[in-house]
This record gives sequence, C-alpha cells and structure tokens, in this order.
Amino acid sequence: MSIDIQGLYKRFGDFVALDNIDLTIPAGQLVALLGPSGCGKTTLLRIIAGLETADRGQVLFDGVDASRRHVRERGVGFVFQHYALFQHMSVFENVAFGLRVRPRAVRPSASQIQAKVKTLLELVQLGWLADRYPHQLSGGQRQRIALARALAVEPQVLLLDEPFGALDTKVRKELRRWLRRLHDELHITSVFVTHDQEEALEVADRIVVMNRGRIEQIGSPEDVYDAPATPFVYQFLGHINLFHSRVHAGWARVGGLRVQVPEYDDTENAPALVYVRPHDIDLLREPEDGDTTLPATVSRVSALGSVVRLELIQSPGGEIAEVEMTREHYAVDPLRAGDMVFVKPRQMRVFLHDDPKIEPLVHWNGDGDGI
Ligand code: ADP
Ligand code: MG
Repeated sequence: MSIDIQGLYKRFGDFVALDNIDLTIPAGQLVALLGPSGCGKTTLLRIIAGLETADRGQVLFDGVDASRRHVRERGVGFVFQHYALFQHMSVFENVAFGLRVRPRAVRPSASQIQAKVKTLLELVQLGWLADRYPHQLSGGQRQRIALARALAVEPQVLLLDEPFGALDTKVRKELRRWLRRLHDELHITSVFVTHDQEEALEVADRIVVMNRGRIEQIGSPEDVYDAPATPFVYQFLGHINLFHSRVHAGWARVGGLRVQVPEYDDTENAPALVYVRPHDIDLLREPEDGDTTLPATVSRVSALGSVVRLELIQSPGGEIAEVEMTREHYAVDPLRAGDMVFVKPRQMRVFLHDDPKIEPLVHWNGDGDGI
C-alpha cells in the first residue's frame, strides 16, 4: 500500500511539531525517517497510524484519505522502542493476541491461529522460544517477537519507531540486517524511524531527513550521503570538516585555499561555510601552486582498524580538521604528530551562511577548474 502525505501540519500549543510535510512512500518500500530527537518523527508516524490527528493536511493510503479511518481499520502494524510485550503471556500468546481479539466473524480458528503463529515465529527465527515468557528473552529477541506480533494481523503498512534504539550496538547491527532481509522477503510498505544515520543508511531504500518539523531532503542513501541538499544534511550524515569564510569578489577563502562562488547578487562579504568530508582530503608534504592547499600541523594519529584518522590543526586560525584514509594509503608515507602538511580537499561544498536552504554553489571534484 502506498502512503501519500500532503501538507501535514501539527502544533502542540505554540510549538510547531510538523510544518507542512509532503511525502510519498511508494508501496513496498522501506523508508527511514531520520533526524535528531524532537524533530517530529514520532509525531509523523503516529499521525500515519491514526494515533494522533493533524491540524491540517491529509494522509492517503493507496490514494484514499485515511483521516476518518479508525486505527484498527488502517491495517497498520506498529513496533515501538519500548513495546512491552504482555509479561504474563508466553511468546506464543503474545503473537497470537491480535488474532484472538478479532471479532468472532473474522477470527481464525484455534488451529489456524496455531499454524499462523508458528509460521511467524519461524519467520523471525524464534520458533524455539514459543513457550518462554518475555522476561526470559534478550532485548533483541523481544523486539523480534514484537515484530512478529505486529505482523500477525497482516498489516498493509509497518511502522517502526526506533525499534532497536534500546539495544546495544552489536545487537542493533545484527537486527537491522535481519530486518532488511525480512523486508526483502515480505515487501510490506514500511516506515522506520531512527536518529541513527548509520542505521538509516544501511536499512532503508529511501531516507527522509527531517529537522525541526520539516523535511530537509528525500533520497536514496547514496543521494543524501554523497549529495546533501542542505548544510543540515551535510552535518547530520557523517563526519564533516567545516570552515568559516567570507565571500570576496566571488571567492571564499580558507587560509591559503580558495573556492569559487558563482556570481549571485549580493554575495560580497556574505558568510560562507565550506564543507569537506574527512575522507575527501589528500595530505601533501609540499604546497601546491594556485591556492589549492591549506597548511596545517598533524596533532594526532589514530590507526585503529582499517582506517587511519588524523587530527590536524590549521596553521593560521587554529581550527581543527579531521582526515581519514585507508591504512594502505597511510603506509605510503606515514605522518606523525608534529609533521607539517598541506591539506588538499578532493571534494568540497560551499553554502552561503545566511540561507541554509541555498543550493550548494560549488561542487569541486579536484579537476582544478575554478581554483
Ligand atoms: P522525535 O520522535 O523526532 O524525537 P516527536 O515527534 O516525539 O520527535 O516530538 C516532536 C516535538 O513535539 C518535540 O519537541 C516534543 O516535545 C513535542 N511533542 C510531541 N508530542 C507532544 C505532546 N503530546 N504534547 C506536547 N508536545 C509534544
Ligand atoms: Mg521519537
């Protein structure tokens, strides 16, 4: 089932929680709502479910306005971060619950329920836990059971609100891979809320980046990571180095480095933010001609795992920058704390400060033009 959200607006008192949200979720996709705490993710999810009403706007399921449809009639399955299972019921009974409380006319028979629950427990790979009680399960197992319970009523839409948020990192990583595989099997239209960018990038077909009740960007994981539409998305997804600058005669300057800003009205003296990802930087021993490098001193080298991280202090200004490179790359000419280097971004983006929504002005990919 597809979900169409049009002009959704929601206020709590004076506080605008959702500010004109437009969003289409195609049938069968797994979409992540990603954003910092308080940006309105849960509110949006609750409105889709019918647990909360919007002040303005519509939610359409397969093109039909769902606003007047009761929660139970929306065919929505819900998994929350702390969806306490019924403690006094076995795993089996928890999963069977949604089927047992159906009106008599549409309630499956006892043997049908038996078969259905068995299938669902196998689907979440926990058939062997059917007779256990929730307190005898690990956190990860509990969330898988919660998912099986949500799936029991064959929802058209699955809504997951930080379902793995309370679990430790290792379990969380396993479960999101598992969820992805499960979705590939079932293809239920799913909305997955998370504030964890890595989780969203790994799990979702599409990512909706939210900030303060608005959508900043919608795109594939590659889109939002490689081509962030706004400074917020740049900062929220992955590490960045941020350099403050001002535009002068069409150029933003950071130390010895110049980035061209195409002519717009009134850019003179406008504050500019130059964004560079840590893995988009080369470190040279000698400066290059033509304002392409920035002098700095290596202050720390950390070589854990496959990536070497270097912390640099920019020579004039003292701003700190982070650089990442592979071990192999690092081994060619290992740098040590105290070494003088010249920072050469392979790729950087400039946003004008005054208007954080402005399209990136420069997308420099190192072939030299403009610098
Ligand atoms: P998220 O899930 O992204 O962390 P929420 O949707 O839960 O954000 O909340 C968005 C904002 O709306 C928060 O600032 C929160 O405090 C506020 N909010 C949410 N629900 C209510 C409510 N029932 N009454 C008042 N404020 C609320
Ligand atoms: Mg929330």
